Amino acid sequence: MRQSQLFTKARREAPADEVAKNAQLLIRAGYINKEMAGVYDYLPLGLRTLTKIIAIIREEMNALGGAEVLLTTLQDPQPWQESGRWSDEVVDVWFKTVLKSGTELGLANTHEEALTRLMTEHVSSYKDLPRYVYQFQTKFRNEIRAKSGIMRTREFIMKDLYSFSRDAEEHQAFYDKAATAYERIFDRMGIGEQTYRTFASGGSFSKYSHEFQTVCDAGEDTIYLDKEAKLAVNKEVYDDPEVYTSTGLDKASLTEAKAIEVGNIFTLGTKYAEALGLAYTDAEGKPQPVFMGSYGIGPGRVMGTIVELLSDDKGLVWPESVSPYAHHLVSVGKDEDITKTADELYEDMQTHGVEVLYDDRGLSAGQKFAESDLLGITKRIVVGRDAVATDIFEVVDRASGAVAKVPRAELLR
Ligand code: ATP
Ligand code: MG
Repeated sequence: MRQSQLFTKARREAPADEVAKNAQLLIRAGYINKEMAGVYDYLPLGLRTLTKIIAIIREEMNALGGAEVLLTTLQDPQPWQESGRWSDEVVDVWFKTVLKSGTELGLANTHEEALTRLMTEHVSSYKDLPRYVYQFQTKFRNEIRAKSGIMRTREFIMKDLYSFSRDAEEHQAFYDKAATAYERIFDRMGIGEQTYRTFASGGSFSKYSHEFQTVCDAGEDTIYLDKEAKLAVNKEVYDDPEVYTSTGLDKASLTEAKAIEVGNIFTLGTKYAEALGLAYTDAEGKPQPVFMGSYGIGPGRVMGTIVELLSDDKGLVWPESVSPYAHHLVSVGKDEDITKTADELYEDMQTHGVEVLYDDRGLSAGQKFAESDLLGITKRIVVGRDAVATDIFEVVDRASGAVAKVPRAELLR
């Protein structure tokens, strides 16, 4: 894309009421727009990064055998009444609305109820299990605190996967595979090193659930971690002696840290299946409730976390896997031959399917470089006088500042 066609503008200042670093930088770089507290729009560059995050998660969910769906946000109260979660006292983040007829509807804050009910139409025998179903879907939550930028918003896309297994053992095998897939996801997005598999309370069916907590001062959560074991416990279970016997962690040697919950995985057991009548007939012909798990990740929260962790005093810094474009092509100087060389390289890259944002605007080198730093695209290709003469281009790595001299042919691979 030519930057002269991008409608968003980089700016020096973020809105005065924006306190979170991730949103300040993303607004300044034109990736997002703030509508109101806890409510943001994704603009072209921001949408590209969010889309790449989603694509990585989708690949890993497909590798687990997940089948992608898209359920509606509008929620029929009935299954929620059956599970006991329709009341605002039980779920304190509900947004609800009313049809013209007067009937109340909910805006989904999660999808256990809707999907469990849906699966009753498709699961009846042990041969129909196990199954894994997931989506990237809009959730609405009336969050009380919304001071963490895009990490805690009142409307957000969640990747939620639900597993449907025959029994606890079959469930556990998938749960462990899902945990490994989560680690791979955060590795691929450049935050693996700081992200800890964290023991949290588990509800009624299993002693523990797992949160994926990324150590970061901007985090709202507190965890206690063991760096060597790459494991942590959260505040809820920190004082539970059993967590130490079952994990082998030593309470005295754990370090306290602020962290961001980027994902979590949860054993639901037969709670929803029993409440909503999701059962199968086993090999002996006996009816059994389906054993379920849920697995969430917030792509927007992950994007905010990457910004909190990797950005520097000049602006955003994206790992290549989620950079809106792989390259930022910047021409410096207004001579015709510089523009011609840059135009040609841009067209060549387009033809070869190499992702590039081309700063073709008539600004000074200083302005272009400052803005390029703010946008944080992984590699900057500079076209100046030298490049015109040699057809060799200076390529600057945004994260390290390392400069390489690269011939045109290599840029097209
Ligand atoms: P938290 O304790 O931070 O509110 P949660 O326990 O409510 O999180 P889940 O309901 O398990 O989170 O949601 C799954 C994932 O969705 C979370 O791990 C997080 O990545 C993301 N998420 C949850 N709430 C929000 C939100 N308000 N804004 C953006 N992402 C969110
Ligand atoms: Mg929450």
